[in-house]
Amino acid sequence: MQNAMKLDVLAFGTHPDDVELFCGGTIASLVEQGYRVGIVDLTRGELGTRGDVQTRQKEAEVAANILGVHIRENAGLADGNIEINSQNRHKLISLIRKFQPKLVLLPFNQDRHPDHEHASRLISEACFYAGLSKIEDGQQAHRPSSIIFYFSHYLKDPSFVVDISEFFKTKRMSLEAYESQFYTKQKQNTQPETYISSASFWQAIEIRARFYGHLIGVEYGEPFFYCSPLKINNLFEIFA
Ligand SMILES: [Zn+2]
Repeated sequence: MQNAMKLDVLAFGTHPDDVELFCGGTIASLVEQGYRVGIVDLTRGELGTRGDVQTRQKEAEVAANILGVHIRENAGLADGNIEINSQNRHKLISLIRKFQPKLVLLPFNQDRHPDHEHASRLISEACFYAGLSKIEDGQQAHRPSSIIFYFSHYLKDPSFVVDISEFFKTKRMSLEAYESQFYTKQKQNTQPETYISSASFWQAIEIRARFYGHLIGVEYGEPFFYCSPLKINNLFEIFA
């Protein structure tokens, strides 16, 4: 990973591993197609039941290398207390201007986890305000062309599904990098079991990807939500 600027796509995660869980296949696919892709995790996941901040940081770096992303940064916001305030908004505005992404991927605005809802709102606001030049931080104003939501716990009919059939293995490998969080056959983990550390959680990940893949006639898919109607110039590009 190099720390060069400008990205085509910036994926925001609330906690390290969210991006891998909810849009990791899409990220791997974009990288393979030659786009410059980066990840910004808002928090270090310091409230996670298992693991610790240092371990999760190392795991996040390994996962980023597996996905092939060009940068991964952490905004250092407080896990369990993502406040929608001007200080946090400014942090994200600066990151958006630094990387100037065309597309931003972010968590859907309704979710079981309050952090995900707060993150969604904060990132959406930062994407808009980053385009206002009178909000000054010494960088050029930049507003991403589109913001696209991924789902975590609460699902809604997606606006579209990305075919990740070729990249499901990479997604899974990137998740396996989080040994402190998920079940691994190789490593006995003596920490308390959580919903995501059970062996059956892997089945849930696979079933979900298969379900969304089935909806578009492929093996594996990841669903997304877009707030406005999609602009299509040529029906054949999408439907034929
Ligand atoms: Zn999360």
